[in-house]
Amino acid sequence: MSARILVVEDEEALTTLLRYNLDAEGYDVETVGRGDDADTRLKERVPDLIVLDWMLPGLSGIELCRRLRARPETRSLPIIMLTARGEESERVRGLATGADDYIVKPFSVPELLARVKGLLRRASPERLATVLTYGDIELDREKRRVARSGRPIDLGPTEYRLLEFFLEHPGRVCSREQLLDSVWGRDIYIDERTVDVHIGRLRNCSTLAVSRIQSAPCAAPATRWMTGLRK
Ligand code: CA
Repeated sequence: MSARILVVEDEEALTTLLRYNLDAEGYDVETVGRGDDADTRLKERVPDLIVLDWMLPGLSGIELCRRLRARPETRSLPIIMLTARGEESERVRGLATGADDYIVKPFSVPELLARVKGLLRRASPERLATVLTYGDIELDREKRRVARSGRPIDLGPTEYRLLEFFLEHPGRVCSREQLLDSVWGRDIYIDERTVDVHIGRLRNCSTLAVSRIQSAPCAAPATRWMTGLRK
């Protein structure tokens, strides 16, 4: 699965440039031009990294960053802040608000790409590993094989992708909607309950210590549940 990047930038030319280059690197790119729209989008779906402009209509990048850090779903979301201001005090303020990295406009595209790659690697080394492990569970991406304590486990293709996603994001909780999006893809229409069915199957067929895939009620709305692998 390619890493998903959300670009929040109101300058159209820059958005196009970023989309083109990130896309060429194989990332799954989404763009949004307003801070408040980005806030709404991020409540629905959490990307793997966000490139966030400082000055935005609707809601400033700094304020959005602060809000993201206050929510458990996005507390550790990697954020690269873009800004035209170069003053040291502003940089410090940006980092203090919770951005992981900081790039001053105008910047070179290769530099931004290098920062994105570096930050993704630091944030989730799991994404790049061939063999993912969790306790006694081992998932070999090259051979597409899953084993527990060395004994092979037969998983259906969807259960395999679900497990791969959980192993790539240990400790992260997601809503059904986010799982649907990440595991099934945005363009496929599937009932959210289907996610439960597949998680149930994953639990059964892998005899994963069931408690490791946790389900806990999400704050709102009450009918949504969040699931993830405990770190
Ligand atoms: Ca701007």
